Amino acid sequence: MEEIKKQNVGAFVFLDQINKKKRTASHDGGWRCGILTINMSECINGVLKGARRLPVSALVEITVKRIVHYFCVRAIKGHKMLQNNQLWTDFACKMFISWQQKAVEHTVTEYSHSQQSPSVVTRRQHGHGINTHVVKIGNRECSCGKWNQFGIPCSHAKKVCGAYNISDASMVKDYYDLMAYNNTYSKHFEPVQ
Ligand SMILES: [Zn+2]
Repeated sequence: MEEIKKQNVGAFVFLDQINKKKRTASHDGGWRCGILTINMSECINGVLKGARRLPVSALVEITVKRIVHYFCVRAIKGHKMLQNNQLWTDFACKMFISWQQKAVEHTVTEYSHSQQSPSVVTRRQHGHGINTHVVKIGNRECSCGKWNQFGIPCSHAKKVCGAYNISDASMVKDYYDLMAYNNTYSKHFEPVQ
């Protein structure tokens, strides 16, 4: 915000008036799971693409058809993921496995075992040099910010979970639960007459 203020005071004042909880991932309590406001507007844009400049009735009809199609495709996808015995959506599974592979490159240094939220330093020894991150399992956070941002334990957190014999799978947010996904897209629509 300070940088924005330096660049443009008017933009700073405008943004400062909007509740931070509603416009920033850092102040929303971890509910966005990596989704930015601009992502949501692009989703709506994607559904409405090609439906602009039409008479209102045609615009409503095409939008309803696209939303119905959107739900049907995802209902089938959800069923397939369930048949594959997945616990979470494809996105969460991909992130979980990717960070599992990265975790192999980390080492854990224990700073305190007695605290409820032990601070642990991890170092990545290959690739981009040595980085130090502090993981606090009790708070479900890592200084890299990815755990808080996505709601999935990052590679550092996974390494620490392994060191403390904690199930990292239990730390994934319910947001990615496949049952929640299927419940969302199992609803059906009635044709508009
Ligand atoms: Zn991390």
